[in-house]
Amino acid sequence: MKQSKVIALVAHDNRKRDLIEWVSWNHALLAQHSLVCTGTTGRLVEEALVRKAREAKSLTPTSPIRKLKSGPLGGDQQLGALIAEGHIDIVIFFWDPMEPQPHDVDVKALLRIAVVYNIPMACSRSSADFLISSPLLNKVYKPALTDYSGYIKRKVDGD
Ligand code: PGA
Repeated sequence: MKQSKVIALVAHDNRKRDLIEWVSWNHALLAQHSLVCTGTTGRLVEEALVRKAREAKSLTPTSPIRKLKSGPLGGDQQLGALIAEGHIDIVIFFWDPMEPQPHDVDVKALLRIAVVYNIPMACSRSSADFLISSPLLNKVYKPALTDYSGYIKRKVDGD
């Protein structure tokens, strides 16, 4: 991971308000990094960051946000693929603990792949607070990766 991180932001509908409040509160810190979001989350994050920049009368344009498809339409899977390809450094994922989602299997896959690649991931506001205030945020950092070569080289039926 470089000094400037690629941060993925995703929130389920019941948790979008929480995430937008968190983004607005941390807008100055987030401006130093690149953001990738699922579709609807990305639109709301962008609006919130533009609002904050206007309030601050900042002349610096807010950095562009990469918007993937909406979560239930494949956005979570796109994000999972970006993680597997090494393009994501941090995931802030406010998933809804109270309601099933149409794309629950994709949600589980995203949580799983983030752990496979040892991506720092926050699923609640307090853990997101701890993550964003970590001294490691602005440092070069190499997450330890599990060695899966034994798995890749395993003998399978037909070898
Ligand atoms: P959304 O997707 O940002 O497009 O609402 C989030 C999700 O459900 O994963």
